[in-house]
Amino acid sequence: MPKKVAVLGSTGSIGKQTLEVLAELAPDYRVAVLSANRSADLMAIQAKQFKPELVVLSDPEAANMFERSVGRDFCRLESGAGGQVLAACWPGVEIVVVALVGFSGFESVVAALEAGKTVALANKEALVVGGEFLEKRGLLRRGKLIPVDSEHSAIWQCLGDTPSGQVSRIWLTASGGPFRDWPGDQMEQVTLKQTLNHPNWCMGPKITVDSATLMNKGFEVLEAKWLFGLELDQIRVVIHPQSIVHSAVEYIDGSIIAQLGLPDMRLPIQYALTYPIRVKNRWPKLNIFGQSWVFHEPDRKRFPCLDLAYRAGKTGGTAAACLNAANEVAVEYFLKGKLSFSAIPKVIKAILDEFRPVGLPELEDIVAADSWARKATQDYIAG
Ligand code: MG
Repeated sequence: MPKKVAVLGSTGSIGKQTLEVLAELAPDYRVAVLSANRSADLMAIQAKQFKPELVVLSDPEAANMFERSVGRDFCRLESGAGGQVLAACWPGVEIVVVALVGFSGFESVVAALEAGKTVALANKEALVVGGEFLEKRGLLRRGKLIPVDSEHSAIWQCLGDTPSGQVSRIWLTASGGPFRDWPGDQMEQVTLKQTLNHPNWCMGPKITVDSATLMNKGFEVLEAKWLFGLELDQIRVVIHPQSIVHSAVEYIDGSIIAQLGLPDMRLPIQYALTYPIRVKNRWPKLNIFGQSWVFHEPDRKRFPCLDLAYRAGKTGGTAAACLNAANEVAVEYFLKGKLSFSAIPKVIKAILDEFRPVGLPELEDIVAADSWARKATQDYIAG
């Protein structure tokens, strides 16, 4: 019997690569569910290739377009509120890949975990915003939530079954993004085009901006905290421009174990799907000869987003929900050309300063913090 997989967010960057991996893993794996927000054309192509049982397009207009393209009886089609949750809980599915972008993916993660599915998690916000909530609900069980993010996959691979008490700290590597070596006074002139031109990884626009500000790394610090049950001061960020060492674990005896590979998301995606088994593939492999790697401290002055993330993590409760929402809005304005690059951390800091966090949040508290921060950020930018 093939393992049935649901791919939520199948038309995005990680979703497309997940389907590429799943096509290689057939017939041992079968795509049973595909979901996206509104990319009807690409969804029609994917659905014709993988013949899923269920397709979800959140946007009703996109769902209509999809139906016109593939026909009425092609598969079950859902749209609107609740569609993504249905996709997350679909009967018979073992692994749910959550590659939806933004806070909207959180509800699906909760639903899938509560339905007893294994979640391959590519959505950062679920842990950044909802880590405390998931822990409180007992949903952060080992082996049920598998990281797809390359750094966390690396740490997870380096950790094996070692008890967390034997871990001294983890080294989270960061490429440093396109402005790694820019002088501080030039950060004011950063353009959108330069920001979207990431040196090592090919990703969607939102996460590419987050990589350039280092907010992405800040989010990953918070993700690691919840995923591996670590204290914030056990998580250290190190700039490694070559993106070959994907992260490392330092043990209490001083031994450091790292995971290496080419910067190719298909590897962590495949391992999340086939864990605990490793499967041969045909992708390019790292040539270990002729390499030279460097590691250095991040510049926290030029990249203030990193400390903003640590600050929200230390505050706890709904502070990370505020951080995430303020960042999402600020990045949206930057992508529209309505906010400068260097203003992004300033805006987020101002919103965090104003915010009153709630401890041990329920889902409503998180949603309320998210809405408050979105509105506050829009108002702040509008001046
Ligand atoms: Mg990453």
